[in-house]
Amino acid sequence: MVLDPPLASPMVGRLTIIGVGLIGSSILRAAKVRGLAGTLVAYDASEAVRDRALALDLADLVASTPEQAVRDADIVILCVPVGAMSSIGAEIAPHLKPDVIVSDVGSVKGAVLTALRQHLPAHARIIPGHPVAGTEYSGPDAGFATLFKNRWCILTPPEGADAVAVGQLSALWTAMGANVETMTPEHHDLVLAITSHVPHLIAYNIVGTAADLEEVTNSEVIKFSAGGFRDFTRIAASDPTMWRDVFLNNREAVIEVLGRFTEDLIALQRAIRWEQGDTLFDLFTRTRAIRRSIIEQGQETAAPDFGRERE
Ligand code: NAP
Repeated sequence: MVLDPPLASPMVGRLTIIGVGLIGSSILRAAKVRGLAGTLVAYDASEAVRDRALALDLADLVASTPEQAVRDADIVILCVPVGAMSSIGAEIAPHLKPDVIVSDVGSVKGAVLTALRQHLPAHARIIPGHPVAGTEYSGPDAGFATLFKNRWCILTPPEGADAVAVGQLSALWTAMGANVETMTPEHHDLVLAITSHVPHLIAYNIVGTAADLEEVTNSEVIKFSAGGFRDFTRIAASDPTMWRDVFLNNREAVIEVLGRFTEDLIALQRAIRWEQGDTLFDLFTRTRAIRRSIIEQGQETAAPDFGRERE
């Protein structure tokens, strides 16, 4: 999979990425490959990550302070964990140029909008975003330029947001290969609770339960992991900081969806107890159709075993 060739001229003057992890470094790589910005600026709180960004040649300038990073920036994208959005928002606020677009990539949108509104000046155009793309790896080395290709990027502009800014940000994501959709922050948080947050919680839970059954974990669980468990362990290997922040900042929607999930699980338990094979068969048939439609929409591979290479 490759990105389109570079643009004849950049669509953004100065683009600043704060947080050079999986997502931030992928944006930098994609923006570089496609020539999307006149100047690419990167900043990370961690000196080791800043050094790595320099070594990987991810940006034209690796700033050593948030102030230096956002100075004269036209678009700033915050790529830090959701729980860090508020503090970085406060740090950059006094140094933003008039009419700057400030966006983010956080997996929760309502809490991030509230945090940014609290700190950023009125002249900043806040357009939160969330690329629905990722892996279980973290850090500057984990990123790659095609991460967003054929993936959705959801923008959640607040009411009354500047349409020109939404258009510019949307064009930037489209140029990185993403398909852009807009919705309200509340709707985003409910949809993602169902499609991403609760599934991650289930994976963390099932792998945690297996780990607690230590006798089994030490032998059979690992040995026979291909029987479904292994796919949960991939998800449960996702970054602990990121996911702690997701659950703490999307509490309401996650708890609502978990309530429904628990009821449905108990209904399945009852169906098994009372040997209601038709109930189980009907559900498994419906869920198989959902998997097929995800593959048809190009959001997953149909290759056996999730496209894993066989020895
Ligand atoms: P990551 O690989 O852990 O990178 C985050 C980077 O931000 C780290 O280098 C971290 O440094 C740095 N950082 C933390 N606090 C900071 C601060 N106050 N100022 C500057 N830098 C700071 O994380 P990621 O996976 O790219 O995730 C970043 C964001 O994208 C999160 O909000 C997440 O919800 C969202 N997201 C992630 C995925 C995914 O699959 N991973 C998908 C879509 C969206 P330290 O390591 O030193 O803390």
